[in-house]
Amino acid sequence: MIKLKSLFVGLILAAGILSCENLDDGSYVDGETILLNKATKGNGINIVMLGDGYIWSDLETGGLYIGTMRKCMDAFFSIEPVKSFKEYFNVYTVICESRNTFVSENSATYFNLTVGQDGLPVFDLDKCIRSVGKAVGDGFTDTVILLIGNEEYFRPATSYFGDRDSNAVCSICLQSEAIARVVLHESVGHGIGRLADEYVEFDEEIPQSLIDYYNHEYEQFGFRGNIDFSSDPSTVRWAHFMDNPDYPEVGIFEGAARYRSGIWRSEQHSIMTDGDAMYFNARCRELIYKRIKELAGEEYSIEEFLRYDKKNLAGTRLWN
Ligand SMILES: [Zn+2]
Repeated sequence: MIKLKSLFVGLILAAGILSCENLDDGSYVDGETILLNKATKGNGINIVMLGDGYIWSDLETGGLYIGTMRKCMDAFFSIEPVKSFKEYFNVYTVICESRNTFVSENSATYFNLTVGQDGLPVFDLDKCIRSVGKAVGDGFTDTVILLIGNEEYFRPATSYFGDRDSNAVCSICLQSEAIARVVLHESVGHGIGRLADEYVEFDEEIPQSLIDYYNHEYEQFGFRGNIDFSSDPSTVRWAHFMDNPDYPEVGIFEGAARYRSGIWRSEQHSIMTDGDAMYFNARCRELIYKRIKELAGEEYSIEEFLRYDKKNLAGTRLWN
């Protein structure tokens, strides 16, 4: 269904500027690229982590910048289905030195991260793309970027850019107590799985124009496969789980993608809802797994997924 261009052209270009961690007791320097995890299987799925609002004193080896990036990487791989596939990922961080620690409208930081009029974060995307290019080469595709703000007062978000069939994605994650949850929701859920939110924010029916747009994006590119606009169990996008006795928690639950009605999700809880569930539900796991396989250049089959997923069944029924 999804035709992906596997253009990981940057790896070779980047090879000359990679540094190894902790070879000396000094500090990292602005622009330096550090490889935190190297893929040993598949094409290598690129993750690039950048920090905003980190000043010179945060850049020591073992300091706040590298510590935060490591924490985010550990969070990214902390649960299934990414936990079992760490060897498919290249994880980089590029050192970005800001002049200020405070991320806000009137404070010049490296990416000028701040809150837009709609309450969502805005930042200098061109500068972000140039920084990511230092790690994976210019013209990159299929890359997940984590921009980590040294601040926690505004709302995390994820946006896609570039061609829809080989898009890059940038998640804004903020340094906070809840950063593990934010990284999983934004960068694994929206980023790798291209999942929709499963929570309700507006007490109203989803507009038809949005349904048309989401249907188009699902049919063309596989976006937001964890939601549907039909409650018919025989045709819903996760119908293959409905009569499987291994998945009694899978059903058809109204409310998702911020709307109360006219849209359905597959389970009561997931990390894509705003509850406390620290797991991806079955349909979300399937979509993330499928995307990892596609990006890695490997074949996907539902049978193989179901075999892999047996180990996840017990741990994802905390709410049942
Ligand atoms: Zn979300």
